[in-house]
Amino acid sequence: MTAQSSPRPGSVGTGSVILVGGGPGAVELLTMAAVTALEQADVVLFDRLAPNDDLASLAPRAILIDVGKRAGNHPVSQTGIEGLMVEHALAGQRVVRLKGGDPYVFGRGSEEVLACHRNGIPVTVISGVTSAIAVPAAAGIPLTHRGISHAFTVISGHAPLTDNELEGLTLLGSTIVVLMGVGTLPTFSQGLLRHGMSAGMPVAIIERGFSATQRTTVSTLSTVLADAAAAGVRSPAVLVVGEVVRLAFSGDTSAEELVARAAAFEETD
Ligand code: SAH
Repeated sequence: MTAQSSPRPGSVGTGSVILVGGGPGAVELLTMAAVTALEQADVVLFDRLAPNDDLASLAPRAILIDVGKRAGNHPVSQTGIEGLMVEHALAGQRVVRLKGGDPYVFGRGSEEVLACHRNGIPVTVISGVTSAIAVPAAAGIPLTHRGISHAFTVISGHAPLTDNELEGLTLLGSTIVVLMGVGTLPTFSQGLLRHGMSAGMPVAIIERGFSATQRTTVSTLSTVLADAAAAGVRSPAVLVVGEVVRLAFSGDTSAEELVARAAAFEETD
C-alpha cells in the first residue's frame, strides 16, 4: 500500500513528508490513502498535472502551494521544491507533496525522497494511478491484449532517444508508451521508421486525459507528424505506438467493429 522509509529518526518536533501520487487528473482516481493524507496535511505542494481543482476541499486545513511543474516550465526549480518541502517539514508540518500520476514514474519522486533522507525527515510514498496506463485506457486502448502485445515499455520523450533505444524498441515489437513526447515526436517517429518499424504501425496521441477537452488522434507511424501538426497536438499528451491502438474507440466505432478487430488478431495467435 504505502512504502515507509525513514533511515534516521527525525529530531524532536520534525514533521514528515508524504509523496502522494495524484493520478492523471480525475479526483475519482485518487487512492483512499491519498485522500486521507490530504485530509491530514498542514502543507500541500502541488504540480500542475495533479488534480488541483478540488484541493481546497480535499485538504481543508492545509496551506496550498502551487509549484506549477509542467512540461518545459518549472516556475519553482526542483531544488526550490525540495527546499520548501524540507523547510516546512523541519518546522514540524505534515507536508504532502502531491504529484501527477505516480510519484516514481518520471516524477523526480526518488530525488525528493532522497532530499528528505538527507535532512532526517520521515518520508512515505503513496503510489498513484499513472497516466502511462490510465490515459490510454481513457481512450479505450489496452496496453496488452492476448495475441496482440504481451509487453509494454513506458519511456520518457523528454530528450531524444538513442539509436540503441530505438532499435531495442523496434526489435521488442510490443506496445510503446511515451510520456512528455510531443516535442520529440519528429525524431522519435522517424527514428523508429529508420530502424525498420512498419510505416503503417498504428499510433495514438491522447491529449489532456480526463479533462473536458480530452482528445485522441489516431494515425500511423509514417503519417503521425503531419496528422499531429494538422490537429495542433500539444502537451500534456500520452503517445501509444502499437497494434493495440486498433482497439481504441472513437465516436464512430461500433462495439461489433472493436470485437471483430480483436478477433482478427486472436485467429492468428
Ligand atoms: N508521474 C506522472 C508522469 C509525469 S511526466 C505519471 O505517472 O503519470 C508528465 C507527463 O505525463 C506529461 O507530459 C504527459 O505525457 C503525461 N500526462 C500526465 N497526465 C496526463 C494527462 N492527464 N493527459 C495526458 N498526458 C498526461
